[in-house]
Amino acid sequence: MKFETNVTDIISRTYNVKSFRFPRVPSLHYKAGQFMFITIKSGEEEMKKHFTISSSPTEIDFIEFTKKLTGSKFSSALDALKVGDWAKIDAPYGVFTFEGEFEKIGMLSGGIGITPLRSMCRYCTDIQSETKITLLYGNHFEKDIIFRREFEEMQERNKNLKVVFTVSEPSESWTGYRGRINAQMIEKEIPDYMERVFYTCGPPRMVEAMEELLKDLGVPEKRIKKENFPGY
Ligand SMILES: Cc1cc2nc3c(=O)[nH]c(=O)nc-3n(C[C@H](O)[C@H](O)[C@H](O)COP(=O)(O)OP(=O)(O)OC[C@H]3O[C@@H](n4cnc5c(N)ncnc54)[C@H](O)[C@@H]3O)c2cc1C
Repeated sequence: MKFETNVTDIISRTYNVKSFRFPRVPSLHYKAGQFMFITIKSGEEEMKKHFTISSSPTEIDFIEFTKKLTGSKFSSALDALKVGDWAKIDAPYGVFTFEGEFEKIGMLSGGIGITPLRSMCRYCTDIQSETKITLLYGNHFEKDIIFRREFEEMQERNKNLKVVFTVSEPSESWTGYRGRINAQMIEKEIPDYMERVFYTCGPPRMVEAMEELLKDLGVPEKRIKKENFPGY
């Protein structure tokens, strides 16, 4: 469905990632992991792009997307948005979704690719799903980890959710994994990986690497669900 709306909230997630919220229209039904088209104005010019809906269907008051601000024309226009500003939404789209249909899933993500997985984890936590989820989330620096506090809180509320961060260039005080997601991490953190359906999302090269990793471990292609974010 398409509707005109106004920004209600802007949340800074990291130094270069922001979430933008809009009122939830009651007739808008979406699945965790789907995406939306958003049109914004820069002066008189309208600009349109598509982003994952980073909110969960259980968050009934708002719909949210989360964008890495890259310095592009669109990013600059977004960065200049204020609460109350006009926007147009066209949603929902996409088949990279999870509605509780699998008993055990693995999630492999990097950087901004976390947005659909945040929606799915939040959805499962809110509905007290029995699905066992292990998420491995890689970033360059600790300061790049998006939704870090929220994932920590979700794990406290949801005994079926395990979130493991890995950082390529950590500070001296970092006690978690170092480097990119690799086969050893999957074997250690998701030892029953052959029983799981995997969701992987991130920049195209990362998604490709994760698919190869899983295939090398023997995970059949039909159990690997992928979403690419081109442009990163
Ligand atoms: C299904 C789907 C879901 C998606 N969900 C999300 C999401 O949740 N969040 C999200 O952030 N993205 C998401 N994307 C990607 C998104 O649609 C854009 O492709 C992406 O955000 C890049 O757009 P951009 O305007 O930042 O850069 P583009 O204008 O597309 O440029 C691509 C790259 O060029 C560089 N660049 C361009 N202009 C400049 C400039 N003036 N100065 C410096 N560098 C520049 C930037 O590094 C940028 O990354 C999704 C894509 C798909 C297909």
